Amino acid sequence: MSTEKLSQWLGKEGLLESNKANTQKGVTIAPQNKKPYPQQTKLNPNQIKTNSQDKGLSRRSPHHSGQAQRTPRNDNLSNKKFGDYNPTVGRPTVAKREKFHPTNFLHSGNKGDIRIVPLGGLEQVGENMMFLEWGDDIVIIDTGVEFPSPEHLGIDVLVPNISYLIQNKKKIRGVIYTHGHLDHIGGVPYIIPELGFPPIYATRLTKELILANSTEHGIKDKLKISEINPKSKIRLGKFEFEFFHINHSIPDGVGIVVKTPYGQIVHTSDFKIDQNPSDDQPADLGRISQIGRNGVVLALVDSTNAIKPGHTLSESVIEKELKKLITEAKGRVIITTFASSIGRISKVVESAEKDGRTVFLSGRSMERNMVIARKLNYLKCKDTTLQLMSRGIKTMDPKKVLILSTGSQGEELAALTRMAAGTHKDVKLTKNDTVIFSSSPIPGNELAIVSVLNNLAEIGVKMFDKKKLDIHVSGHAYEEEVKLMTSLLNPKYFSPIHGETYMRYGHRDIVVESLNFKEENTLVMKNGQGIVLNNQGARLMTDKEAVPAGSVMIEFGEKVGEHVLSDRTIMADGGAIFIVVKHKDGKVQKVDIRSRGFIYMNMQHEIFNLLGQEIKTVFERNYDPARPDRTLEETLKQATTKLFFRKFKKEPVVEVII
Ligand SMILES: [Zn+2]
Ligand SMILES: [Zn+2]
Repeated sequence: MSTEKLSQWLGKEGLLESNKANTQKGVTIAPQNKKPYPQQTKLNPNQIKTNSQDKGLSRRSPHHSGQAQRTPRNDNLSNKKFGDYNPTVGRPTVAKREKFHPTNFLHSGNKGDIRIVPLGGLEQVGENMMFLEWGDDIVIIDTGVEFPSPEHLGIDVLVPNISYLIQNKKKIRGVIYTHGHLDHIGGVPYIIPELGFPPIYATRLTKELILANSTEHGIKDKLKISEINPKSKIRLGKFEFEFFHINHSIPDGVGIVVKTPYGQIVHTSDFKIDQNPSDDQPADLGRISQIGRNGVVLALVDSTNAIKPGHTLSESVIEKELKKLITEAKGRVIITTFASSIGRISKVVESAEKDGRTVFLSGRSMERNMVIARKLNYLKCKDTTLQLMSRGIKTMDPKKVLILSTGSQGEELAALTRMAAGTHKDVKLTKNDTVIFSSSPIPGNELAIVSVLNNLAEIGVKMFDKKKLDIHVSGHAYEEEVKLMTSLLNPKYFSPIHGETYMRYGHRDIVVESLNFKEENTLVMKNGQGIVLNNQGARLMTDKEAVPAGSVMIEFGEKVGEHVLSDRTIMADGGAIFIVVKHKDGKVQKVDIRSRGFIYMNMQHEIFNLLGQEIKTVFERNYDPARPDRTLEETLKQATTKLFFRKFKKEPVVEVII
């Protein structure tokens, strides 16, 4: 694509119609599926703000005394509004002073169970998805994917099991997205159509990424997305939601506050506490502590890096290092990074431009995200600075070239793999060139990356990875940050979310040990087995109450059954045997045997003879013209499998055709 064409493409690409009505700050989005509250007064979102006459005390039980598990923060708060929630209009106010915890009003009458159920993201890193259910209303938070590990032979992507939600489709009032990483939005093309395209709520960047990610699946026009921002208030069924700004390795992320009669539920999303992010607003600690003062009954907090001691460094630290490397480089600079690190990439492009380098984009997601970054003003650069990979790069002065390549997934690493192997048609690397790995490989891709590193080392390219750069820059809060978050939120119940099971238990221990949190008030959930919240407090769902969860494998956009993967696994391990039996009235005339991927090829003749004998015997012993061939095929299959296991301790896939 020529420079001119590219600039048109970058500048004018209208990925979506902008939703102007919803883009002003602090706007309240007209709720879809607006439903009255149970029993009492109808509230509309504009009424969420309680008037100053409404004393929080009116919601507190006269019988209740001192549920506070920690030193009361401020007794005067009992005169303030509680979470702006007004479920008990008309109840007599009982002015009894009691030890304050913002959620003492748990005992203020039962408005029904609220269930918080994760469907993914708790026993893996990825597939983040949960739903809140309260009577006839369900609201979903995130629908993420997980990338396959090497044992998921041929599978493209994994998504959570949504069978419970499909059964309860009618109750779904909306889907809220916390941020634009694929482990939170990647499931849109697979999940949203199955749920009948419920209304979606996402911040501006997240919305653009959802749309871009859905384009090739042909559902873009069917998505109903409303923009939210940290000041939005939305109401979906009985649920009311507010948001707060969080920092992460992608801009425009929000945490979620759910207003309930039992106090606020807070979902932190993926977060870190960055006071000096270069592409985003600093962490809004004031707002977070305000949420805490309004009464948090349950905090769901990101655990991905919670057990790493200390504090993450600011994103601005790594950007400074990258800038220095680019300026000092004598030849071409090739940077591999996650295409979603929009802030970091934008800074790289800007410093490349300053040094007079043209930036070549390699990888489709990189091209797509740069279009979005320019459109939303995260990236400010001249049209001529950005180019798609093209012939032109061949003749350019290496000092004027920077190549940005996605390095997160095997197939997208292809360009760098070819450059390293010396087979890239336009780029022949030399020892003057610099390659910077600015993202850690997704587990499972390490081996592929080692061979790239080996090839680069042979050429003598200068290499920098996160061991040489700053290792502490991560998008997920370390121990000190998660402690700060939970302290500020001051919840009655704490539940660690996002991350492997050991990370979440580790996070729980930190909260118990360092923050003096009562262990019985910590709830470590499982996928499918979440939390029940009512006026008695919060508890884990029992085994009986659990909903189906677990990963669903997707290939070519279709669900893949367990048996497909198990066949592939068996074939990968033991190969495959195909047997065709020809007979006349039950007398075997010929047994044809073929094999693939079977190891004992030099003994093939003997083995096939032995197997042929066995097939003949079993066939003739079991033949019955009244029985269908299928049954006999199954018997022969079992006999063959048994024989192979007995002789070779191998279990190939066996197919028998009569
Ligand atoms: Zn994330
Ligand atoms: Zn995540």
